Amino acid sequence: MAHPFVTESNILHRDMRCEHLKVVSGEGIRYHLGSGKSISDATCGPSVSILGHGNQEVTDAIIAQLGTIQYVYSGAPLTSEPSEALAKFLLEDRPGGLSKGIFVNSGSEATDAALKLVTQYWHEIGEPNRKFIISRKQSYHGNSIGSLSFVDPCYSFRAKKNGESDAAYVERLRQQLEDTFQRLGPNNVAAFMAEPQSGTTLGCVTATPGYFKMVRDICDKYGALLVLDEIICGMGKTGTMHAWEQEGIRGPDVQTIGKVLGAGFVPLSGVLVHERVFQALVGGSKALLHGHTFQAHPLACAAALAVQKIVRRDNLLENVCEQGLILEKQLRERIAPLPYVADIRGRGLFWGVELMRDPQSKEPFDRSDNFCGKVVDVAMDLGLNLLGSLGHSGELQVDHVIVAPPYIVEEADVVEIVGLLHEAISRVGAEYS
Ligand code: PLP
Repeated sequence: MAHPFVTESNILHRDMRCEHLKVVSGEGIRYHLGSGKSISDATCGPSVSILGHGNQEVTDAIIAQLGTIQYVYSGAPLTSEPSEALAKFLLEDRPGGLSKGIFVNSGSEATDAALKLVTQYWHEIGEPNRKFIISRKQSYHGNSIGSLSFVDPCYSFRAKKNGESDAAYVERLRQQLEDTFQRLGPNNVAAFMAEPQSGTTLGCVTATPGYFKMVRDICDKYGALLVLDEIICGMGKTGTMHAWEQEGIRGPDVQTIGKVLGAGFVPLSGVLVHERVFQALVGGSKALLHGHTFQAHPLACAAALAVQKIVRRDNLLENVCEQGLILEKQLRERIAPLPYVADIRGRGLFWGVELMRDPQSKEPFDRSDNFCGKVVDVAMDLGLNLLGSLGHSGELQVDHVIVAPPYIVEEADVVEIVGLLHEAISRVGAEYS
């Protein structure tokens, strides 16, 4: 899988096993390389570019903002029109009681901001002993903070026992979560944090029905906040604006968003805050004890506002649902029967394909096989950009690839993407048979 060399790069690239292909332009769902080759961006990068590449309206919005004010330091008592308008646009319906927003630059910053806000909340209301954050093994919330992992993820495909019902499995997870609260001391737990649909670590695993209702109930029982990380699965990717809307819960107390918020035109992420949490700050120190130099950057907010207005105006969530059904059917009919394909799961336009040495006995590949890495490399040679992972940071090896095309995708694109994925898995699989 030799890729043409980007000669003498001074960038310390993340993956040093391969050379990096230089993208010179993009249009719709395709990247164009200097060599003249095009690559179908089947995952929006790491689940970011939902409008595809080269959208003129968003570009114009950024240029227009450049012509007014380029930077406002929101740490001082100043704000900007696009950041105010974006917060209003996202929160005017108060989804699940979320009423205020903070805009930062990356998902990791949003995680930090969310957890600091949670800690501040408990100080403001006089319970400073609530310091523990319970999160799930093999979850990914960013690079900058090591939030503590205590409980198992909800991952029925690998964790459910033979013949165990959904209800019994959720009950087992409930017991473990309650035990964890008890071990830490219920009054010491600040929050439980999870991704409603897991992203890069487990590969688009959806929760077992009833799981998040159970989680919400336990948080309420012990007074802990529920923090949902929708950085990768939120803002429409699963077919509803917020992934938690499909879990039958009233919503989180704090929610992080990112990636598709600005669709990659400019980096932007955010933290959405429930009115109750906000009121605790208003009733207390009247300040958010957190900030960044480039917080609520006007150019990023202008870009994100343009992106989100297009998503709403063009009913793109309808397209996510329609094309999502086509994608699911294609994956189940064409990819599921292939050797080494163990599971297909997802929602909307956010799907994972889990790969195993023996799907029957659920025997994973050896880490050294790097099976999904090979699939990603072959797919790239074929002109398909996929996101693949071995499921880092955990006990389980979860080889998977993610298919998450832009919200503007059409049926012909979906068929082409699945065809190339089929070819890539088949070619790598042939090496193993
Ligand atoms: N949270 C989740 C669920 C993510 O998937 C990611 C990134 O993939 C992050 C947080 C961190 O985001 P960033 O890479 O923008 O720092």
